[in-house]
Amino acid sequence: MAAHILDGRALAEEIRAAIRPRLARLAARGYSPHLLALRAGEDPAAVLYAKAQARACEREGIGFSEEVLPAGADTAQVRARLDAANRDPKLSGILVVKPFGPGVDFAALRVHIDPLKDVEGIHPQNTSLLGPAASALPPCTAAAAVELAHAAGFPFRGRHVVIVGAGETVGTPLALLALQRWATVTVCHIYTERLADHTSRADGLFVAAGRPRLIRGDMVKPGAVVIDIGINRIADVEPDGATRTRIVGDVDFESVGAVAGHLTPVPGGVGPLTVALLLRNIVAAAERQRG
Ligand code: NAD
Repeated sequence: MAAHILDGRALAEEIRAAIRPRLARLAARGYSPHLLALRAGEDPAAVLYAKAQARACEREGIGFSEEVLPAGADTAQVRARLDAANRDPKLSGILVVKPFGPGVDFAALRVHIDPLKDVEGIHPQNTSLLGPAASALPPCTAAAAVELAHAAGFPFRGRHVVIVGAGETVGTPLALLALQRWATVTVCHIYTERLADHTSRADGLFVAAGRPRLIRGDMVKPGAVVIDIGINRIADVEPDGATRTRIVGDVDFESVGAVAGHLTPVPGGVGPLTVALLLRNIVAAAERQRG
């Protein structure tokens, strides 16, 4: 393995350590941040995600509560609950946990979350360059990918960044974060032709397509910084013939690891850092709300 493996867990611990004194200062002023997770129905991925955030908050002494709307809730119902949460002074952050049913227009909802409580960074003011950069709560996963690239010493400025995946949660906000840092950015998606022509020219390759092992070693420029954001559950046949479920990224770890300069593992890369940045956003939101 030629690549240096970037440790997302260690970086996440550093970020958690840095927010603890900020939490203590808030506590000294009689304020404890509180996160509300809003979801609908019992989608297993949403339940799991909310549980993971609850554990993360609990570990840092951040309040957490969950509100579960009926599975068939429509946009108006979710919006009504969102409006109430926006007004509630006890809530410092709101998480709108996807997926919702077909009756919910998520894109329409994003603009109704108070940008100051939008700790996942999904409001257009936080995902885009529209808001003043200093006041934005950055989108957690995209920001986690950027932090890992920084940890690898990737300068962004003047470098060619290629992003595979133009999703609204990761790829698109990541393109804007890279642009803010003066990278030259190419965004690839499902209709991109000759994907390898693009990926093999990247100094920094960020992959968020949700396709297991989409990127192989022969698609990567030697020495590139490769940040694997994908999380895929696959059934793998082991050497003993048994089938086991594994979590893999969008990058083929072995072949890309032989070519890249730096590479993030899955699990243990972007995932833990995303959670740490969510916690940091909750603290930042609470500080802003308390002046
Ligand atoms: P999405 O479905 O919204 O977007 C996927 C994007 O990938 C689309 O733009 C699509 O056009 C593109 N794409 C799909 N197949 C492709 C292909 N073969 N070639 C090129 N482009 C292709 O997904 P998302 O919500 O942005 O998530 C992307 C991945 O990131 C998923 O695996 C998800 O699980 C993961 N994710 C990880 C974290 C984390 O904390 N690590 C957080 C959020 C999402």
